[in-house]
Amino acid sequence: METIFEAQDFIMNTGVEQKIFGHAPRAIYDVAVKNLHMLERMMSFYLDESELTLLNRYAGKQAVPLSDEMMFVLGQAQKFTQLSEGAFHMLLAPIIQLWRRAGAKNILPSHDEINDTLTFCNSENLLLDKVASTAFLKKEGSMVDLGAIGKGFAADVCCALYQELGASSAFVNLGGNVKALGNRPDRAPWVVGLQHPDKPKGTSYGAILCTDQSVVTSGAYERYQVIGGAKYHHIINGKTGHPSESDLKSVTVVSQSSMQADALSTAAFVMGLKKGVDFIYNTTCTGAVFFTVANEVYLTKGMTRHFRLMERFKCYEI
Ligand code: ADP
Ligand code: MG
Repeated sequence: METIFEAQDFIMNTGVEQKIFGHAPRAIYDVAVKNLHMLERMMSFYLDESELTLLNRYAGKQAVPLSDEMMFVLGQAQKFTQLSEGAFHMLLAPIIQLWRRAGAKNILPSHDEINDTLTFCNSENLLLDKVASTAFLKKEGSMVDLGAIGKGFAADVCCALYQELGASSAFVNLGGNVKALGNRPDRAPWVVGLQHPDKPKGTSYGAILCTDQSVVTSGAYERYQVIGGAKYHHIINGKTGHPSESDLKSVTVVSQSSMQADALSTAAFVMGLKKGVDFIYNTTCTGAVFFTVANEVYLTKGMTRHFRLMERFKCYEI
């Protein structure tokens, strides 16, 4: 008989919620958790011996041998960096750290500090050798950060495992990166609530009906620090070295690939509404929902049938 197994964990520095429906859902869950811990040891910026930490530690010194999975993620991150012309940018870690230190000291970074730090963030600094399975950061002080793509990749890995291990239906939410396998056990689509940027956590302004798709949101509201009384959020515009300032409060991207949705939601958030919409149309994503600073909601064409508005907003197809 098929049963459902549900659990919540804290892995990869984020809450992980899983719902698995099948003949042995607990065993499937155990394999997924084991894999998530492996992915954390691969991509964590903070663990001393993760593959990512080794790559960053040997910047300017030598190429580092990496696992196939890590090479794959770095290759994809490089592709999304090029595709988005740096709106998604995997080498912003030095500038992210500068802002983090500024937050701890409660002093804004200076113009010079920002400009000096940006010299370490050139995307040409990362060399991937797919044949040798190595990566090399050419400049000492350069660092890769997979914070805007890693959870998406992990959601893809989880769903591939659920399917391979015979789950008939499943759902994973890694800190807001959601991916569903099939429909819910009752055959209705999974319903993914979209967080209202200005309301308490858990308040949705709308929802995506989701079957075999991923839903990922990037926004300025969840993670930020306060410097001199003003809020500075965690998504950086690599061209200015400052937290991104666009006409958006959040962007939700729907795609079969959670990794793509993760990287491109960050990119579209940095680009702003107009450029972000054009950009999404030029990809294989299913679509996107944009929530603007004027509290208007814009849907790309084709999204209306996947979307339910829960509050009264001006809602446009764009
Ligand atoms: P979250 O992880 O909060 O869901 P994102 O997917 O947008 O949000 O990723 C944001 C994280 O990625 C930041 O915490 C930082 O580590 C890193 N980051 C910040 N700005 C960028 C950017 N422009 N491109 C790629 N990664 C970024
Ligand atoms: Mg992202």
